[in-house]
Order: sequence, then C-alpha cells, then structure tokens
Amino acid sequence: MNRENRFDIIIAGAGAAGLTLLWYILNSPVLQKREILLLDKSFEPKNDKTWCFWDSNDLPLNEFIYHSWNELEVGALGSSFNEELITYRYDCIRNGDYSMAILDTAKNFEDITFIEASIQNFSSDEKIAVVETDKGKFTASHVFQSVLKPPDFETSTVDNSLLQHFVGWEIETDSSLFNPDKAVLMDFNVPQLNGVTFMYILPFSENRALIEHTLFSDTLLEQDVYEGEIRNYLSEHYDLGSTRYRILRKEKGAIPMEDRKYSTWYCENVMNIGTMGGLTKPTTGYTFTRIHKKSIEIVSALERDEKIPEDAVSSYRFRVYDMMLLYLLSSDQHTSVRIFHDLFKKNSFDMILRFLEEKTTLSNEISIFSTLPYLPFFKSIYKMKHRIFTGR
Ligand SMILES: Cc1cc2nc3c(=O)[nH]c(=O)nc-3n(C[C@H](O)[C@H](O)[C@H](O)COP(=O)(O)OP(=O)(O)OC[C@H]3O[C@@H](n4cnc5c(N)ncnc54)[C@H](O)[C@@H]3O)c2cc1C
Repeated sequence: MNRENRFDIIIAGAGAAGLTLLWYILNSPVLQKREILLLDKSFEPKNDKTWCFWDSNDLPLNEFIYHSWNELEVGALGSSFNEELITYRYDCIRNGDYSMAILDTAKNFEDITFIEASIQNFSSDEKIAVVETDKGKFTASHVFQSVLKPPDFETSTVDNSLLQHFVGWEIETDSSLFNPDKAVLMDFNVPQLNGVTFMYILPFSENRALIEHTLFSDTLLEQDVYEGEIRNYLSEHYDLGSTRYRILRKEKGAIPMEDRKYSTWYCENVMNIGTMGGLTKPTTGYTFTRIHKKSIEIVSALERDEKIPEDAVSSYRFRVYDMMLLYLLSSDQHTSVRIFHDLFKKNSFDMILRFLEEKTTLSNEISIFSTLPYLPFFKSIYKMKHRIFTGR
C-alpha cells in the first residue's frame, strides 16, 4: 500500500452523517490538521432531501436553515389541531445547500482529500482499518461509515419492521394558498388504504410548498399511487386542479422503522454512523439531530484521543416506548391513527415534541400515556415482553 492511500481518518459516505462529522472535524482546531479522506460515489450536491427537526437550540445549525415554522397542524379522525410552538421551532435544511456549504468549506483545507469511488467492503487488522473501493484500497486508524449495512444486520433480532415511505412534490401555485408560518406535520384525514397514511406539508411561501404522501407500512407502492394521492389531496383540500400548479421538483424516500438493535462497529476501527449506525428513531424516522449529537461525541473523543462512547442512542425507557408504538403501528392501523388523534388533541405540541426528542421526564410520560387508549398499550407490552425486559 503506497503512502498516498494512508490517512488518519476516513469518512466513507458524504451524506448527512459523513458531512456532519466532517463539519465538526473542520471546526476542531485539533482535528482539522489531520489527513482526512472523504469517499462517496458522487459529491454532486442535489436538493432531493428536506431534513426537518425541532431540537436544535444547542446545535450550530442556524446558518444552514432554509425555512422555519412556528405553528404546526395535525389532522386525524375528521378533526385537525393547530398549535403555536413555544419552546421549539420546526426547521428545515435542504440537503443540497448543506452539502455545498460543507464541501466548499472543506476544499479550503489542504489535508482533506476527496475521492469519488464505489465502496465495496471494510476490514481491519488490529490498528488499521481498510476501505476497499473500485478505485483501490485506503487505510486509516479511524473509519466512519454510513454506506454499508453492518455484517450482522441480517441476523440481528427484529420483531417489527416497517418503512416510512413517501413521495413528495414541491409545487408552485398561481394564487396564494399556503401559510408559510404553519407546517402540517401529519394529516391522517386521507384514505387509509395501504398502511397508516398521512400527508406532510411544508409551505415555503404563500404559493410554494412541499406536499408528501407518506405511509408507515412494510411494502413500497408504485410511484403513481403516491402521486395520485397527492393530486387528489390538492384537488380536495385546496381546490387545485392540475393546471393551477407546476411541479418544481420531486422527493422520495424510504426510512427504516424497526426495533432492530444496530451494532456500533462494522469491524474493529470502523464505526457505523447515520442510518447504518442505528441513529434513526424507529417510530418517527427523524435522524438528523441525532447525527449531530453523535458527531459531537465522536469529535470530542477523537480530540482527547479517548475511546469513542458506545452508548445506545436511546435510553432503556425510550427503547421500550418505541417497541410498543412500533408494535401498534405494525399490527393495528386504526388504533394507531386514534393514538395520534388523542396524543395531539390532549397534549401540548411542545410536550409531544419533547417526548419524541426523548427529553421528557417519567412523570411527563405517565401524563402523556394517561391521555391515550390504554388497552392497546397493555397488549403491546404483552406481545413485546420478551424484549421489554432486556430493552434489546
Ligand atoms: C427523502 C428523505 C427525507 C428525510 N427527511 C428527514 C427529516 O426531515 N428529518 C430527519 O431527521 N431525517 C430525515 N430523513 C432520514 C435521515 O435523516 C436521512 O436519510 C439522512 O440522509 C441519513 O443520513 P446518512 O448519512 O445515514 O445517509 P445518506 O444521507 O443517505 O448518506 C449516505 C451516503 O453514502 C453514499 N453511498 C451509498 N452507497 C455507497 C457506496 N457503495 N459507495 C460510495 N458511496 C456510497 C451515498 O451517495 C450518500 O451520500 C430523511 C430521509 C430521506 C430519504
């Protein structure tokens, strides 16, 4: 192996997780001088993902934010609930803007190398990790990877496995129809044909919005099914015929929602990060702020030359709640929608967001659960008891 192929740190995958880790490394006076290799099959920034989050007070994200909403709406069982947020703000970042800003900054650092390559495997021999690609092998003492499923992925225990899958259209309309201060987090007042289904609406101005048809289910649909539902929704809720709007871009995705326990290490010295590191919250699909929090932990450990913490991303209590809710989402569509209805009708939105961000106290959680139908939760505890006792 020649010297040019040896680095201190390799970041394999330049998506949300890889770029976020790179961003914190660039902001670390200790680490920014290390020899770093960033690998991805393509570095071309694309605005094909809109990352939203609400718990960013402690994170340096303001410079990336594209739009924010102070008010949220949720619809279910024929009703809808609106609320202005008090402690939070619902923010969004476009992935293309994020990648461009981070890659442009990184290009000013001499010791960072960018290689477009297809990553095929990782291996390790005691102190050195090896990344195998179609452009050759690269080695480093630390590799962070967000591209390949860990080797034990297929054999790890999983009882409930869903996908949060969606297709979205960003549209521009002739007239002013949207409220750019209010996002629709979930509107379940749509046909529930193929799984728990809702519409997600992010208005960027009075006449431009992203409208996403989203499902929690185990089977992806044909593209025209999602698009037909968006067309119907625009017609029924906004009286918008197809001649009255233009589709500016499309977004699609399938985010895993599973009670699988992800392993921290792909192999020795190769750490799994991002979705591959199990950072996606199983019951919501939100991952972005967890990626930031994990990157901060990694950088802090690398700066001190300490072992990177391997703590589970969620505490035992929240892993159990996720298992229970995931069981209900997988097994009882009607009750799931009713739970969302009661949750948003009977609790403040700020409290629900705090709960989803796993920052509530046990007494907050007891008070939230007391507003929900309790029999389905008892059933879920019974069905998931083999894992609830261990939290694994
Ligand atoms: C459309 C969409 C919208 C989302 N919205 C939200 C949201 O609003 N809020 C939220 O918190 N989460 C959201 N998520 C979930 C999650 O935050 C994202 O999926 C996020 O991009 C995960 O980051 P990652 O780095 O793990 O994966 P990615 O961002 O997908 O990055 C993986 C990188 O690896 C590269 N790669 C893959 N295979 C190879 C290979 N063999 N060789 C070389 N390179 C390879 C890819 O090119 C990519 O750049 C969304 C996901 C999707 C798909």
